[in-house]
Amino acid sequence: QGSIMVQLRVAPLDNEYILILADDRTEITRTEAMRNDFVVNVSHELKTPVGAISLLAEALDDAAEDEEAVHRFAGRLQVESVRLSALVQDIIELSRLQSKDVVHEGRPVDMNKVVADAVDRLRLTAEARDIAIKVGGSIPYPVHGDADQLMTAVRNLVDNAVRYSPDQTTVGVGLSAVDGLAQVTVKDQGIGISPEEQERVFERFYRVDTARSRQTGGTGLGLSIVKHVVANHGGEVTVWSQQGRGSTFTVRLPLWNGGDHAHDQDTVEA
Ligand code: ADP
Repeated sequence: QGSIMVQLRVAPLDNEYILILADDRTEITRTEAMRNDFVVNVSHELKTPVGAISLLAEALDDAAEDEEAVHRFAGRLQVESVRLSALVQDIIELSRLQSKDVVHEGRPVDMNKVVADAVDRLRLTAEARDIAIKVGGSIPYPVHGDADQLMTAVRNLVDNAVRYSPDQTTVGVGLSAVDGLAQVTVKDQGIGISPEEQERVFERFYRVDTARSRQTGGTGLGLSIVKHVVANHGGEVTVWSQQGRGSTFTVRLPLWNGGDHAHDQDTVEA
């Protein structure tokens, strides 16, 4: 709620000055507008699965005599509930992230372990589609932050890489330390993202292809969560992609103590 003071020189009276005291509300207004947008978006996004669940419950009731129909509706009811649950989970995650101060509460985190754990959780899904996830390289120093959040970010990137790739392809996850920063790259041989869309994919609920995102269990919040986690850690996330050839997402994070570990005894934990 800062005020800004602007000094204006008024021509042509050479030594006359005017003082304008202006209340700078732009920042507050912007935050408020973003919050309102979020509420509108969330309501819109929740309507789809909630509406479907309600219709399916009705249909189930009507079809009580028809065993095959009951089975079919029950299956779809389950799909919609899983979707709703994923959406609610991501919404909670995102609002939690917006209020957490990682830079001050951070601890040393071993990114090698974070990546290994994230990949482990996705291996079965990938294997079911004959997609190999290969991890290479390592980060010799810990980063400064929150292991759970970092795990969520890496998992979202690898999850996307798998979901937007055809069967029998490879997802490569690379770890390295470059210029005092930890670098994690997630590379796929998937459908790719056009240059115009690369600028928008980190926005909340933005999807290039809504049908595909829904069909593969997407909520439209994955990359927005990644962006928030990385920003909370003072890092950055970028994307490089060629349509039809694949995408590479790169996360860079500051190392614990800026990577200067000659004299410290930090314990690495994840
Ligand atoms: P979603 O839940 O829809 O995947 P995300 O926020 O994770 O939401 O991603 C936003 C959109 O960016 C996706 O809907 C998809 O169109 C695109 N996208 C994300 N990751 C990839 C990828 N690895 N390859 C191609 N497209 C991607």
